[in-house]
Amino acid sequence: MDLARVSRTARELMDQHGLKGWTFGFDDAMRRAGLCDHGRRRISLSAPLARLYDEADVRETVLHEIAHALVGPRHGHDGTWRAAARRIGSSGRRCVDAKAPAIDGPWAGVCTAGHRVTRFRRPMRPLSCSLCSRRFAAAHLLSWTYQGQVVPLGTRYESELREILAEAAVRAPANGTLVVGPVDPGRLGAEAGAESPEGATALG
Ligand SMILES: [Zn+2]
Ligand SMILES: [Zn+2]
Repeated sequence: MDLARVSRTARELMDQHGLKGWTFGFDDAMRRAGLCDHGRRRISLSAPLARLYDEADVRETVLHEIAHALVGPRHGHDGTWRAAARRIGSSGRRCVDAKAPAIDGPWAGVCTAGHRVTRFRRPMRPLSCSLCSRRFAAAHLLSWTYQGQVVPLGTRYESELREILAEAAVRAPANGTLVVGPVDPGRLGAEAGAESPEGATALG
């Protein structure tokens, strides 16, 4: 959507819901569609994402942030916030609709089943696919490429990976079938939590 139209839509919705003292602007976020800055009384939208969004995506994002402004910073995404969001016409969800356009990071991780996630920053430690296993599981490790190329992931990553594979090999039954359960789940996390998948754009 054209950014001038995004601004107008946002301003109209903010005025309609009593945020006349608040300002609207844009930011450069890639993984977060909107932001409600209570201190500065300012709502902003990601310019790169808003350009890709249609009117419904923009309205959802603005209404999400308006609901934050209306209930105040202490509510986060709790029930009070959700009720306010739904009352003004937002879905009350935390993330942008999965069908909305998103911006891919240069790092891509793929599991053996072919699930793919992207990130903007180099993964610091081995991660497993959250679609294959909710908890970290060595059998569902993601292998990473940077802009399509296999690149070194750093000594810390490599040594953790060796440790995980060694641990997994110890657990493998004598017949040689590699069945790997979760490895020390307190220490390592799956790539994405249930609430805010890494691949999804947070609304903010
Ligand atoms: Zn997977
Ligand atoms: Zn939010």
